Amino acid sequence: MEEFTASQIQRLNELGIDNTCDQFDSVNKRNHSFEEIARHATKTSRNQLIDRCGERRRHSVKEMECEIVSHLIADGYTECFTPIIIKKGGLYRMGLSEKHSLWRQVFWLNDKECLRPMLAPNLYCMIRHLKRFVSGPLKIFEVGPCFRKESQGNKHLEEFTMLNLVEIDSEGDRVERVADLVKLVMEPLDLRYELINESSEVYGETIDIMVNGIEVASASFGPHKLDKMNGVDTPWTGVGFGIERLVQLLNGETNIKRVGRSLAYLDGVRLDI
Ligand code: ATP
Ligand code: MG
Repeated sequence: MEEFTASQIQRLNELGIDNTCDQFDSVNKRNHSFEEIARHATKTSRNQLIDRCGERRRHSVKEMECEIVSHLIADGYTECFTPIIIKKGGLYRMGLSEKHSLWRQVFWLNDKECLRPMLAPNLYCMIRHLKRFVSGPLKIFEVGPCFRKESQGNKHLEEFTMLNLVEIDSEGDRVERVADLVKLVMEPLDLRYELINESSEVYGETIDIMVNGIEVASASFGPHKLDKMNGVDTPWTGVGFGIERLVQLLNGETNIKRVGRSLAYLDGVRLDI
């Protein structure tokens, strides 16, 4: 029996066809079937692109970002807008150093600066400043690009959009606060999720937010061992979400690359067809 070749499977996957385990009596029949499926998928993609250009809506990742941000603003969060280029010191203050695996994932611009792999160093800085003026609870968030060198995989991008929300000086049980923050983002999305205790290289004990066994966010809380180095001495609760992961799951995409920043796809549809 004949199966699709690796390059045929790759092309069908690019065109959004994931079910490629058919078997055929002969090479001819296989190739004929491939041509038929590819032709049909190409036509579908072309129509989707034409429709997409007339739809006057934002990219799914941006749309998701807007929806979440509007809920956060309505809930009293203040948006931060901090640099994408950060200093090496910011990573050291996250307890990272050359011996950590995340360090090897960092895109360095020169020997002192890199593209941020996370939002936390900048948000620590914001908290440190804002807490000098704001007494009582303070809620902040940032959403924006983060960068990590990743080996290939269908859940990782080298450029992705992180959303971090942090509640400072909130009262009550820490784990319950995490659950409330997660609910604020997840409830409107209508995705079933669960909270799992995990441990992270940077934060130590974390709570991961999982959808169908896939991590969509990690949460942590202080007082934390990193607080002192970052000049923060108030309790906090924080969660970091990957927006593309949420879109990937909501749209039922097998590969995150279809929904991330891309020159090969526009919002899930292959362009080189
Ligand atoms: P993973 O274990 O999946 O590699 P992580 O635990 O290293 O993720 P965190 O540092 O906890 O990631 O980042 C918070 C969230 O950001 C993750 O839960 C995920 O949704 C998202 N994220 C992290 N790295 C990537 C990536 N390379 N591409 C897309 N999203 C990512
Ligand atoms: Mg994590």
